[in-house]
Amino acid sequence: MPPISILIKPASSGCNIACRYCFYHAIAENRSVANYGIMSEDTLERLVKETIAYADGFAAFAFQGGEPTIAGLDFFRKAVELQKKYNTKRLEIQNTIQTNGVLINEEWAKFLAENDFLVGLSLDGPRSVNDYCRVDISGNSIFDRELETIRLFRKYNVKFNICSVVTKKTAEKITAVYNYFKQMGFMYQQYIPCLDEQGAEKSDYSLTAAQYGDFLNKLFDLWYKDFSSGLEIDIRQFSNFAQMAAGYAPEECGMCGKCTTYFVVESDGSVFSCDFYTTDEWRSGIFRRALTAFTTAKSR
Ligand code: SF4
Repeated sequence: MPPISILIKPASSGCNIACRYCFYHAIAENRSVANYGIMSEDTLERLVKETIAYADGFAAFAFQGGEPTIAGLDFFRKAVELQKKYNTKRLEIQNTIQTNGVLINEEWAKFLAENDFLVGLSLDGPRSVNDYCRVDISGNSIFDRELETIRLFRKYNVKFNICSVVTKKTAEKITAVYNYFKQMGFMYQQYIPCLDEQGAEKSDYSLTAAQYGDFLNKLFDLWYKDFSSGLEIDIRQFSNFAQMAAGYAPEECGMCGKCTTYFVVESDGSVFSCDFYTTDEWRSGIFRRALTAFTTAKSR
């Protein structure tokens, strides 16, 4: 059996803020159940048990949303406890979580550090750029709350990287964004383009392909100047380009040129083959059945 990667939605599409560009919210609105609620302990246990039973060598549990932290810290304590209980094969287990950082307090930060979670913190740039789209339900800034989360991550040595959604504003201000991240000491950065679906009406914050291309060129020049003088900031896209230039496959699925295999598990246990296809017509069934079907197909 192969290693396995599972993307889990512990709180379905639920979130405690209201980013203007939220893609998962938009996708969930197009299915019969927009929000499946918080994952039950029973579903979590089946998921952990079956994943570990299926995998060999390595299992990755990536918690995303919506906002996964609204499932509560006890949910994650339970997840780790179950991983320990069922990992009789001594797999290497990796936990990651993508968060907006709003609920992170001392207890959360301690837990994430003690259990070696790799955290992706969503932050688009300095205050003016972040506030452009990342706001709370009343439209207020969450920037200061995110800075507090970064302070806690540093206090407890939580491993984290920064995920910035590239809007039109980010692209226009990429020099200021990159310099701000550098000044903040963010050595691991990821930039996710905010592009409209083909044929969809263009939003005021999304990029055109040409704007994204221009953004990448500018970012590359900034990064390369630092890299050439010995400051090695890891930008996921560029690491993937370097990997490809050296003859290796990229690890980022959007760069592979074809869809890779991973599972998205919604909070009710429904399985989908991609985060962008979590609508009713792409639902592959409940976890155990989907995994069995996949295993059978692979062994043919
Ligand atoms: S934090 Fe993520 S899930 Fe929540 S509104 Fe923003 S983009 Fe959507």
